[in-house]
Amino acid sequence: MPVNVSAFMPAELNLVLVGPPGAGKGTQASRLVKDFSLPFISVGDILRANVKEGTELGVKAKEYMDKGELLPDDLVVDLITERLKQPDAKEGFILDGFPRTVPQAEALEKGLTVSGRKLTAVIVIEVPDEDLIERLSGRRVNPTTGRTYHIKYDPPKHEGVDDIDGTKLIQRDDDKPETIANRLKVYHDQTSPVIGFYERQNTENKALVRRIDGTREPDEVYRHIRALVATVRLEDTL
Ligand code: ADP
Ligand code: ADP
Repeated sequence: MPVNVSAFMPAELNLVLVGPPGAGKGTQASRLVKDFSLPFISVGDILRANVKEGTELGVKAKEYMDKGELLPDDLVVDLITERLKQPDAKEGFILDGFPRTVPQAEALEKGLTVSGRKLTAVIVIEVPDEDLIERLSGRRVNPTTGRTYHIKYDPPKHEGVDDIDGTKLIQRDDDKPETIANRLKVYHDQTSPVIGFYERQNTENKALVRRIDGTREPDEVYRHIRALVATVRLEDTL
């Protein structure tokens, strides 16, 4: 008798990471990518690469990013919709920094539904504003690889240079105090309603939205996220 192989195939793992700037989305995503070998799609990274290359999108994006404002929805929606259609995202994806507004969430929903897909979980990393200001003002990045450090919480072995390739670390233009304040405001005004949008899709048997305490050590936060992903995967196969 033929065996129905698809019944044993793990479902797609389509994850969205939501959280204020500095919550640790990038830090956690780099751990998830290693364990689940899924593409990590960060809108911020894509935009910064465009700024660096001086593309038309990059020139436009820089104006908004320097002020800590969000780009217009249509610009990022098209970018992400196309990205999710690439072959490497067939088995799943980890989305960071998208959706950041309710219209973006609606567009993502529509795009996934058209392709017969759905989100597995929306992971919300919660950190209070006071901690975020300290995290963002102490963040340093490798401009080539995007690898992130923190001057106090995750310092490089030698001050100011990347542990792996020795590149000089920089502070992001939008991690300056005046921009940080606006980014937090934008998060509370425009992005936190996205959590409500997804919470309305929670059912009695399955919660789409999973909240994580992001104030603990990065490794501990990651242990929670990993356990959670294992649970939602299991629930998906039932
Ligand atoms: P962080 O990781 O600190 O939250 P990101 O790198 O995700 O910051 O985003 C940096 C900037 O890129 C944002 O402040 C905004 O200007 C722009 N951006 C990122 N994602 C989006 C999005 N989904 N919609 C509009 N603009 C975005
Ligand atoms: P996001 O992508 O959400 O903007 P990042 O992952 O870039 O956030 O983290 C922001 C800063 O905070 C970085 O400098 C990072 O090293 C630091 N950081 C991340 N997670 C933690 C944590 N759990 N505790 C303390 N600092 C953290």
